[in-house]
Amino acid sequence: MKNENKKHSALHEKDVISATEIISSNAVAAIQIFRKKQPTSEELIEGILNGNISALSRAITLVESTNASHLAKANEVINACLPHANKSVRIGITGVPGVGKSSFIEAFGKHLTGLGKKVAVLAVDPSSTISHGSILGDKTRMEELVKDPNAYIRPSASGETLGGVARKTRETITLCEAAGFDTILIETVGVGQSETAVHSMVDFFLLLKISGAGDELQGIKRGIMEMADAIVINKADGDNIKKAEMAKAEFNRALHLFPAKKSGWTPKTSTCSALTHKGIPEVWNTIVEFLKLTKENNYFFEKRKEQNQYWMLETINEQLKTNFYNHSDIQKLLESTKKAVQNDEISPFAAAQELLEMYFKK
Ligand code: GDP
Repeated sequence: MKNENKKHSALHEKDVISATEIISSNAVAAIQIFRKKQPTSEELIEGILNGNISALSRAITLVESTNASHLAKANEVINACLPHANKSVRIGITGVPGVGKSSFIEAFGKHLTGLGKKVAVLAVDPSSTISHGSILGDKTRMEELVKDPNAYIRPSASGETLGGVARKTRETITLCEAAGFDTILIETVGVGQSETAVHSMVDFFLLLKISGAGDELQGIKRGIMEMADAIVINKADGDNIKKAEMAKAEFNRALHLFPAKKSGWTPKTSTCSALTHKGIPEVWNTIVEFLKLTKENNYFFEKRKEQNQYWMLETINEQLKTNFYNHSDIQKLLESTKKAVQNDEISPFAAAQELLEMYFKK
């Protein structure tokens, strides 16, 4: 029995050794495969410029990464893509949840690919960290577009701040354009500040609405209406057609009360149905008209220049803020300084000044 045990344990020992060997050789192989799978910047750039979707997706993941070591590689890829970007139309689409954004993008996107366009669909949803992507998360309403080889759909980047999410989307636009996408649709939820961020990265801003009970203008933020280049009343089908037409007339009247736009464009209102596709081609025709006008009067190009400058300044603001609050000395002092300010021991301005001076002296 004793002998048998010994034999058993000897066998066991041998087994353990060989198992360890297998595991470690597998681990090395796995690491080698993993390393091989991590493309270099050059490979990514070449892939993107050749329209390779997996290279594009990997580069976007790099841009979205919070890992500091990925930043340099991401910047290298973006810089190489820049000369190949810019040849697109960027369209922002907003509307409250349930208005039919996903359904509209599916119908509109299919219409565009039918015209021979290459369509990328992106989203700005700063809440996606919590809700795990409330928009573009539900791909069931984009069933056809998902399968379309000329369409690329990417859910919102996650992030703690709108600024961070927006910056990542802004860079993703560059990558998609370099990969040959000529029409970029950027969806955002019609709540909060995200419309302003999307508005500052698109050429054309479309507000999607549905008809209500005759009080169309209630609850709609003036700022959002002012940003809109077109207001499209969706779900104009079945019993709803008449109500949608009435809503259209009401929005039209309201839009005429706003001052003329710098673009020289008069915002248009129309109705459509994402379900029956009625009115969908007309939305694209409106955008074509807008592009013709704003390219002729140069507004299109001037606005893009302004937007580039805006994103540089935004990135500086965002980076400075992040660095400041993440600085260990500031973190150590911030809580006690907040208390001192609450107790009137120091004025808020003097306290801010002290912290800032300390930070910049470092
Ligand atoms: P989102 O939350 O804005 O993305 O809206 P969805 O695209 O998810 O649509 C919300 C609901 O409205 C779904 O049940 C859709 O089927 C429905 N819907 C969307 N577009 C239309 C339309 O044009 N007509 C009708 N009748 N229903 C629609």
